[in-house]
Parts: sequence; structure tokens; C-alpha cells
Amino acid sequence: MAENNFGGQKVLLLPEGSDRLIGRDAQRTNIAVAIAVANAVKTTLGPKGMDKMLVSDLGDITITNDGATILEEMNVEHPVAKIMVDVAKTQDQEVGDGTTSVIIMAGAFLKGADDLIERGIHPTIIIRGYKMAAEKAEEILNNISKPIDLNDTKSLQKIGMVAEGSKNIGNEETKKHITEIAIDAIKQVMEKKGDKITIDKDFIKVEKKAGASVANTELINGVLIDKEVAHPQMPKKIEDAKIALLDVALEIEKTETDARIEITSPDQMQSFLQQEEKMLKEMVDKISKSGANVVLTQKGIDDVAQHYMAKAGIMAARRIKRSDMDKLAKATGAKMVTSLDDLSPLDLGKAGIVEERKISGEQMIFIEKCKDPKSVTIFIRGGSQQVIDEVERSITDLIGALTTAIEDGRYVVGGGATETEVAEQLRTYAGEIGGREQLAIQKFADALEQVPEVLAQSAGMDSIDTIVQIRSKHKTEEGKNYGVNVYEGTISDMLKAGVLEPTKMKVQEIYSAGEAADMILRIDDMISSRSKGGPAGGMPQGGMGEPME
Ligand code: ADP
Ligand code: MG
Repeated sequence: MAENNFGGQKVLLLPEGSDRLIGRDAQRTNIAVAIAVANAVKTTLGPKGMDKMLVSDLGDITITNDGATILEEMNVEHPVAKIMVDVAKTQDQEVGDGTTSVIIMAGAFLKGADDLIERGIHPTIIIRGYKMAAEKAEEILNNISKPIDLNDTKSLQKIGMVAEGSKNIGNEETKKHITEIAIDAIKQVMEKKGDKITIDKDFIKVEKKAGASVANTELINGVLIDKEVAHPQMPKKIEDAKIALLDVALEIEKTETDARIEITSPDQMQSFLQQEEKMLKEMVDKISKSGANVVLTQKGIDDVAQHYMAKAGIMAARRIKRSDMDKLAKATGAKMVTSLDDLSPLDLGKAGIVEERKISGEQMIFIEKCKDPKSVTIFIRGGSQQVIDEVERSITDLIGALTTAIEDGRYVVGGGATETEVAEQLRTYAGEIGGREQLAIQKFADALEQVPEVLAQSAGMDSIDTIVQIRSKHKTEEGKNYGVNVYEGTISDMLKAGVLEPTKMKVQEIYSAGEAADMILRIDDMISSRSKGGPAGGMPQGGMGEPME
């Protein structure tokens, strides 16, 4: 292998033992891998989707329904599988939801492409057809979207419930409660410039602690930090807190060079220590003078300084993460100070209450009741680590979907209704285009219908019958919103059922999945110089294995 023949002379291009797949073989293998990845997440789609239990090599257990998480935890090794995982991650970062759908679609696009390649259509034509289809799909989505704004709490609530929908985190009441928290959190941190709303999700901090029910999950108007008060004699609770945020070590700097201090008598030692103590006391005095009664620092605090602070009635916590300092600044209005000489009353932030509380046996500091904080915390509770982890993933999806909907200002209906409608209109478009590209556009349309098909399967319905019924509904004027009603095992109007999703999420799903398919279809030569048996070694299905083992 990996040899070329020039006039009888063998030219060795690749090192001994490397592996190579060319042309149709490479395509076939890659498509098979992509479909295997899609199949691995398929059954988790939608509110009736199943969960997966993943056990890491260290024995950690994750129980989840989240596409991106499943793929990440599976540690896939085949390069094509990695592309699929990256696509899911990108979707997660861009919109925070819709990851399973992207993977299912990408798998379906590739399956469709494979059929066409079998029929002698060149991948370049398929890629072109898919690109046309994706652009047209966006146009269709733009046309069928409905507007939504910040005051439309009812619709936002529905979008939230759908985003949380498939995660097994509690009953309807609990999900509603969590959705309300997320909406409030977003409204609190968003910034409005004219008509444009921007939401920086980083300023919605998520903290979690096992030990209470999910229903106890709460929104904290401020920041919760997983730290304890530095000294036992310091106050544990301060009302009307004036907070200094420091990037200053409240310690005596250790001599930097090799300079040594020669101490020759006990007296000298004494005065040296006194000198140190005096410097630390001066530091604390500067803090007191500013009026601060809470000190939060990124650096350390010397025991002696702690002692003086406790005496002065100041609460302090040390070694706080940089990211938390930014959030604290946003929430309290404090300015981060890097030298105590600069500390002025104007730099202090405010909070109604700063309090250390014991939560399930561990101390945490609540900086809360801040006035109009531009940074808040969602504090997740739940019965076990697995539960709070899944609630966190659910909240990520929730905040992602809501943020996307609010920023973009549009929604469509879910339950596969939108995919069916787009598919219907794409088929008409394919007819107008003609040529070989039309075959690709048709395949693209078929692939979109994987979404209602899989949803129907998850609800125990006959998927073929269901697709046929939904399609025929979509041919009528009043049936445009028909999709799979997974709870009732029927097809129904998704607008009436309140299954709403952000438009931008669907657009992103289609483009991401299309791009993954495009990237994978372009590969017609796979060269692996890794040892046999390793990833992409024995290439067919190489490294993927049976996904759940
Ligand atoms: P993803 O990772 O792609 O977001 P989900 O497991 O969250 O996967 O499932 C999303 C799919 O489930 C979407 O197609 C959405 O329209 C559908 N869905 C969510 N809630 C409902 C519902 N109540 N009825 C029907 N379909 C729903
Ligand atoms: Mg989802």
C-alpha cells in the first residue's frame, strides 16, 4: 500500500504500516461512521427520548439525554466521528440547544448522499445541491417564522419548556419553576441598546450542590461563590455590605531575590516581626478607612491580616477565581482594585446581604440582594450529583434557547412540523431547479424529515404512517403546523400544543449539519500513519466500535 509506480520504479510515499483508504472506500467508511454516530444519539431525541448511562474509565456515571454530552463522554476516536462531535459542540456553543437534531440531520444528509453516489452522482454535485437546499431552507424558515418579544412571557415560557423537555429533571411544576428562573435571570442581565438586545450568558452563573430537591433551585440576585469566610472570628453575615474587590495579596511579599536578612539577636527578631505586623495592620487600616465591610480578594490573606480584619468587623474571603471576580464586579458595581493605596469609597460595590451559609455540609458565600445586578446566579439543587448535573445541562439548553429566541426575536413550531414544512417547500423548489442538483435537494428534504420520524418512533408510533399523515396535513392551509404530538401519540397542531422553538436554532441546525456533511463528503483519501488497530487503523468503523460499550 501507499506505493506509486513510476516506470517500473516503486516510490514509497508513506511510512511502512500506515493505512490508506481511497475514493469510494473512504467515502463508504466515513459515511458509515457518521451514521453510526447519529444512531448512537437517535433514541434520545425529544421529550419521549430515552436517557443514556455513560460510565467513564474512572467509574464516574453520567446519566443524560444531551446529544453533545453523550458524544463527548463516548470518547469517539474515528476522525469522522470527531467531526460529528465537533459539530454538536459548535451547536452547543452557538445556540446551546439542538445538538441531537444536528447529529441526526448530519447522519441523514450523508445517508442520502451515499444513495446518490451509488447511483453515479458525483459528490461535488451533491455538495452543491445541499448548499442550495440549505440556503433555500433558511429562506423558508424566515418566511414561516413568527415574531416574539421580551414581553411575550407566555411564548417564552413555552420555548423554555420545550428546550428542557427531554431532560429528566422533574415534573411539570419543577420544569416551569426552572423556566421562570431562567427567564428572570436573562431579563436581569440583558442589555438593551435601542431595539437591540444582547445577552451575555457568562453573567448567568450556575452553581450546584446536591442535597435538596430540584424544586429548591433558586435565582440569586447576585453571586454565589463556593468559598468560606477566611477567619472564624469574622462576621458570617453582613447586611448593607460595602464590598472591596481586590487583586492584592494581603500578605508581606516574600523577598524576591536571594536577599537575606541577618538576624543576630532575639530583639532584632522581635522588631522584625513587629515591623511585619505593622505593615499588615496598615493594610487593614486602609481597607477600613475606605468603609468596606466585606473584602473579596483574588490573592491570599495572611493570618495576621485576617486577625485585624476580624477585629475590625470585616468579612473576607480569599483566592477567588478571576471569572467570579468579574461577575462580582457586574453584580455589585464594585471596581477591582490592584493597589490598596488606590482603594476609595467609590470603588466599593453594594449588596443587601453577604452571608456564609452551610449548604449540605459545605460553606458557601452568598452575595445577594444586589440592586439591579447585571450578573446573577442560578443555584441548582437536586437529590444527587447525577441529577444536578443533568439539571445543569438542561439549564444550559434552556438559557441557550431563550437567549437565542430573545436576541433573534423569532420562533417556529417544533415536533417535526417545521422540518416537514421546509421539506415540502424544498421539494417544490427541487422541481424548479431541475438537473442533477434536484436529486440532492430532494434527499436533503427527506433527511429533514428524520426529525418527525425519530420523534414518532420515540412515542411508539408507526413512523412511516406518521410521516405520510403529517405530509398530507401540510398540503392543506390549516395543517401547516402539524407535527408529532409525542404525549398523545397522534399528530396535531404544534402551535396549539405550545411546542415552540427559536428560528435561529433551526437555521443553525441545518447549516451545521450541512457543513459536517459537506466536509465529510469531500474526503476521498484517508491516510493514517498511526499503528494498526489504533484509531482509523482497521478503518471500517475503526475506533468507534459499538458506541455504548
Ligand atoms: P436536541 O438536542 O436536538 O434539542 P431534544 O432531545 O431536546 O434534542 O429534542 C428536540 C426535539 O424534540 C425537537 O425537534 C422538538 O421540536 C421536539 N419536541 C420537544 N418538545 C416536544 C413536544 N412537547 N412535542 C413534540 N415534540 C417536541
Ligand atoms: Mg433540546
